[in-house]
Amino acid sequence: MIDRKRGFYDEAQETMPPAERAKSQREMLRDTVLHAYEHAPATRKKMDDAGVRPGDVREVADLRKIPVTRKADLKHIQKGDPPFGGLAAVPPRAMRRIYVSPGPTFDPEGRDATHWRWEKPFIAAGFREGDIVQNTFMYHFSPAGLMFDEALLRIGCTVIPAGVGNTELQAQVMKELTVTGYVGTPSFLMTILEKAKEMGIAPGDGLSLQVALVTGEMLPETLRARLRDEFGVQVRQCYGTADVGSLGYECHEARGMHIPDEILLELVDPATGEPVSPGAIGEVVVTLPSPTYPLVRFATGDLSILSGDPCPCGRTSPRLLKLVGRVDQVTKVKGMFVHPEQVAQLAGKVAGIASAQFVVTRAGHEDRMEMRIVLSEGVSPSDALKARIIETAREITRLRGEVRFISAKEAEEPEKKIIDQRKWD
Ligand SMILES: [Zn+2]
Repeated sequence: MIDRKRGFYDEAQETMPPAERAKSQREMLRDTVLHAYEHAPATRKKMDDAGVRPGDVREVADLRKIPVTRKADLKHIQKGDPPFGGLAAVPPRAMRRIYVSPGPTFDPEGRDATHWRWEKPFIAAGFREGDIVQNTFMYHFSPAGLMFDEALLRIGCTVIPAGVGNTELQAQVMKELTVTGYVGTPSFLMTILEKAKEMGIAPGDGLSLQVALVTGEMLPETLRARLRDEFGVQVRQCYGTADVGSLGYECHEARGMHIPDEILLELVDPATGEPVSPGAIGEVVVTLPSPTYPLVRFATGDLSILSGDPCPCGRTSPRLLKLVGRVDQVTKVKGMFVHPEQVAQLAGKVAGIASAQFVVTRAGHEDRMEMRIVLSEGVSPSDALKARIIETAREITRLRGEVRFISAKEAEEPEKKIIDQRKWD
């Protein structure tokens, strides 16, 4: 029986004591900022414009002196100075591959041994040497297929470059090649397994699948449970982007995604670039120590929550608790960010709420936030309940709103968690 629980790709690094980790991060930071300043003209310009010299960045906290570079602007940055907008540290001929992401934007891959760093996520997810793995990510233009493929080879797995689509063939191959691992989206895994079931392929009867690493979309816990209970598959998720590779991965505990040891990750207020306090929602900003593509404060547009609490798996890296959405879904009320996830949190925290919606309006020069609450059947509106909702919302958003109880029929645009009715002209 293979132990798919406890396992490390580099145990000494992954479990290093916090002080040692902080020291290694400081060194990584100084080297990366200096390398980018010397070899990536766009980063040099960004730092010069901000009046920051590489020597000014000694601690991770010093990073805030440097403005962020937004992923959303990458297309324009690249157009302005093709092909990489002055962000790459080597010419294209020194790269191993160049990928094309939707936009289009170009993503460089260096010739270094592991450019995307997916080996740790696979081991943490329970993949082991000898696994036969079906890789259902796209192999052309986008880096997804090859970046997972190469990490699997490096940890000693055998890869079937299956790509997207062809559900029936995927199910047949899974059986005939006794596939034990899957990498792809969670929904496509379920599609293949349902097709397999139809074809009479089931656990113990042609289905040997044991582990899956999924990404690219949300993994609902109900889906994870079904894949485990019905098909016997241990599913773990990871997070990353085509620009920077691995940014987080679950261990066997599956309590948030560990931040890789080889990158510097901050969670910042999307408006100011300042780090947010622990437990608060912030945008994922990455500083990437790469000889080829040394990004300094690259803002991904993804929102998450950080936890520094120790993980029972033994890894000492902090974890991203979950991805809660994109920066462009955020609304600013009285100077504070409000996110659809917070509305969902309110509905989850106060018993008796069937659904909640925030409506933001403006009275004179002041923002107002009305919380429209639909109560569960059998729950009657009361002042006590109203007070509890106001207090809980204040804990979550740090804002004071007014409560209006409405019936489900009265809700406008019920699919929206936040409606912004302010007019700015
Ligand atoms: Zn862990």
